[in-house]
Order: sequence, then C-alpha cells, then structure tokens
Amino acid sequence: MKVSIYNTLTEKIEELIPLEDNLLKVYSCGPTVYDHAHIGNLRYFVFVDILMRTLKNAGYTVYQVMNITDIDDKVIKRSFELNIPFRELSRKYEKLFFEDLKKLKCKIPDKTPRATEEIPTMVKIIESLLKKGIAYKKNGSIYYDISKFKDYGKLSKIDKEQLKAGARVDVDSYDKENPRDFALWKAVKENEPSFDTSVGIGRPGWHIECSAISYKYLGEHFDIHTGGIDLIFPHHENEIAQSEVFCGHKTVNYWVHSEHLFVDGRKMSKSLGNFYTLRSLEEKGYSIDAIRYLFLSAHFKTQLNFTFKSLKNAENTVNNINDFVNRILDAKDGDIDITSQVKKYEEKFFEFLYNNIDITKSLSYMFEIINLANNKGIDNLSKNSLEVIIASFKSFNEIIDVITFESTEIPKKIKELAEKRWQLRKEKNFESADKLRVEIKTKGFVIEDKKDSYIIRKDH
Ligand code: AMP
Ligand code: ZN
Repeated sequence: MKVSIYNTLTEKIEELIPLEDNLLKVYSCGPTVYDHAHIGNLRYFVFVDILMRTLKNAGYTVYQVMNITDIDDKVIKRSFELNIPFRELSRKYEKLFFEDLKKLKCKIPDKTPRATEEIPTMVKIIESLLKKGIAYKKNGSIYYDISKFKDYGKLSKIDKEQLKAGARVDVDSYDKENPRDFALWKAVKENEPSFDTSVGIGRPGWHIECSAISYKYLGEHFDIHTGGIDLIFPHHENEIAQSEVFCGHKTVNYWVHSEHLFVDGRKMSKSLGNFYTLRSLEEKGYSIDAIRYLFLSAHFKTQLNFTFKSLKNAENTVNNINDFVNRILDAKDGDIDITSQVKKYEEKFFEFLYNNIDITKSLSYMFEIINLANNKGIDNLSKNSLEVIIASFKSFNEIIDVITFESTEIPKKIKELAEKRWQLRKEKNFESADKLRVEIKTKGFVIEDKKDSYIIRKDH
C-alpha cells in the first residue's frame, strides 16, 4: 500500500515514492539535551513514532536516523548556569530523553548520532562551502552568504525582500522576519567548549549538524525529513542551503512538519506555570498510555491543545478500549456474524492512516467496531466475528500500542496474593499488606478495597 503525506516544500499531499526500491530513508531532527523534554517535544516524537509505524505497516522498509544536539547555545548556557561540564549535562538529559521515549513506547531510531561526535563531517562540508565561495570568514567565525543561494527561502516561503546582504546572526535560533547570514562555525569564546579543526578553533553552528549527519548516514539524497513546525525557519531553510550547495542538487524529497502542542490554549512556558514533562504528569498519577493516546489521536497538522480534562478523557478512552478487548476475549460465542463489517472498518482505518496519517479518522472506525459489537451484544457474536475483531484490534495496536490483549480472567496466583493481603489487613498488619498490594501492582493488577470486601482489576 502507498502512503501519502503533506510535503511542506511543495505544500501538497504527495504519494511517497522511495528513491531506492522499497526503502524509505528518514531523517528526524532530534532533541537538544539540556533539560527534560517537555510534552510539546514529546508530541513531536510520538508523531514520528506513528509515522514510522505507519510506513512499516504499509510495507516499506524504513531506515531512520535522528541526531542528538549535545552542543549548541542552549546546552552551553545551561552548563554555565549549573556550573557543570556541558558533556555531563547533555549525557544526563540524553539518557532521560531515551527513557521518556521508551516509556511512551516510541521505537528508537536505527541510528542516533551525537553532534559532538560528527565534527569531521561538519568540517568537510564547511570547507567545501568556503571553496565554493558561498561561505566566508569573519573574526574567526564562518558564515553562510544567503544572498548567493538563489533558492534561499523555498521551504519557509520567506519574503526575499527582507534579506539584508551581509547582515549576520551568531545565535542558533532567530525569527523569520530577520533572515541573515548564519554561522556555520563559531570562533572560540572564553570558557566555551571548542574543537581544534582545519576551519579553526571553535564550535559548529546548530544547522550544520543536521546537514552533516544526514549526509553521512543517509547519503546525498534521501526520502523524508521530519521536525516540528518551528524548525522550518531558520533550521531547515539553512539546512537546505548548506546541503544543496555541498551536494550540488536537491537532497530531501519530502519535508514533514508536525504542529505544536499548547497548554490551555497558550504556549508552554516555565513562567506561565504551564510547563509539563512526562515525569510531572506521571507524578500527578496519569498513565503514560493515556498521554501517548492523547498525543497520537490528534492529526499532526493540527495544533493540540493540552488540558487535564483532555488527558482524563484519553485515560477513559484507553480504559474503554482495553475493557472492550478483554470482554471480547472472554465472550461466549453466539450466532450473529459481523465479520464483513469489521473487515470493512479495519480497511477504512488503514485507508485514512495511509492518507496523510489521518489518525483521528482512523480511530473513528475503531470505535465503529466497538459500537457495532456492543449493539449486537458481545455474547451474541459468532466465534469467527470475535476472532476477526481481535485480529483487527491487534493490527490497530501495531500503530497505537495502548492495548493489552489479556482476558479479564484473574490468574490464580493473583487471587491467592490478594486473599493473603486481605487476611493481613484483617490482622491489622498494614505494612505487609501494602507490600503485597505493590507486588500485585507490579504484576499488572490493582486492588480496590470496599467496605467488607475487595475487588481485583487489571491495571491499565
Ligand atoms: P528541541 O529539543 O528544542 O530541539 O525540540 C525537539 C523537537 O520538538 C523539535 O522537532 C521541535 O520542533 C519540537 N517542538 C518544540 N516545541 C514544541 C511544541 N510546543 N509542540 C510540539 N513540538 C515541539
Ligand atoms: Zn535538525
């Protein structure tokens, strides 16, 4: 099956046609590791995971590279503030970043190179740009002369009128209203980390790392490049300028950008007190599957407004989907056959997914199956229908990954532990009883105490 997706470059939804056979080479801009990832960042990484799973599901072979920005203005600033070496800081947050990805069930890309370990490739590109006369030196730094690249602005569609020849910018991030010659290499500054290279002693600008890492690991021309929309300008515009002049041709076919996450309709910021990380939501007791579901259920081209109400709703939805699947697994068989409708809805799920990752629409077909089965009465469904429903939900779960396929039957061992705990409570040995509650929880079950009894439930 073919997948189509919105390409920022052409401003059209296009069918993905790999450069080589069935292989799609994907470059995803990765995290800047100077602090915990916030939930805005994580929305992007969940989207990237959904995209990768969709491509694989559609039958493509996928090879994905994602950089780790372990040196840039932000990393250096924070390491000064905390008075720790920048490598110590970046390694710590890189580790926490991968922990977040794993908790959110995001698949780890095939390669995750660190910027600081790819300096020779960056230097090679900078040398070539100097030789071609599109880069120039000034006070030990090296800048890219954007007036010399005729296609400058083709991705972000900036107004060329605003280009001010010769005006330079040294910081890594700046806005679209102020396009300037940007730094490829920054001359060493007192106390700042630096690298001694053939283009001087200093450190790379932020944009050059993605040109270098994608070139080294994916070659001169690859298929897909992803990032959040804030990266379109200047980061990706500058990347195109660097890579296309270095390689002498177009280097990326499809530019895919996901929209931002807002909190209560506002930009997330520490000063507004609406800045959340995965850990802060976990500490408030929210399930990570609910967070994953909330992020994945919004279309990547729409802004996602995060509220605690929406997170609670996502938690209820995940529980309802799991309860449904558990009831299907435990159902007695009847004689109503709904296999053809279920198969039709499953087809629709993937048809919408493959069409610009329209997952919101896909999920609506999953709920159609739930409604249909509930309306007919689960115990009235034929054995074949029950099997087809489970097969469909397994295929949906290849993408959404929030369903556990276990029957609601409580294992004997759990029942025994729960009974033992109940006796301990009766003996007022609360400490030992609590230990057992924790043990039961680690096995995936929770106990709810009632007045004179208790019930055991699966932990979603
Ligand atoms: P950074 O760690 O700042 O380099 O960002 C990592 C990724 O998160 C980039 O692709 C950004 O575009 C993306 N991103 C940053 N802020 C948000 C946000 N509020 N919502 C969604 N994605 C974001
Ligand atoms: Zn990048």
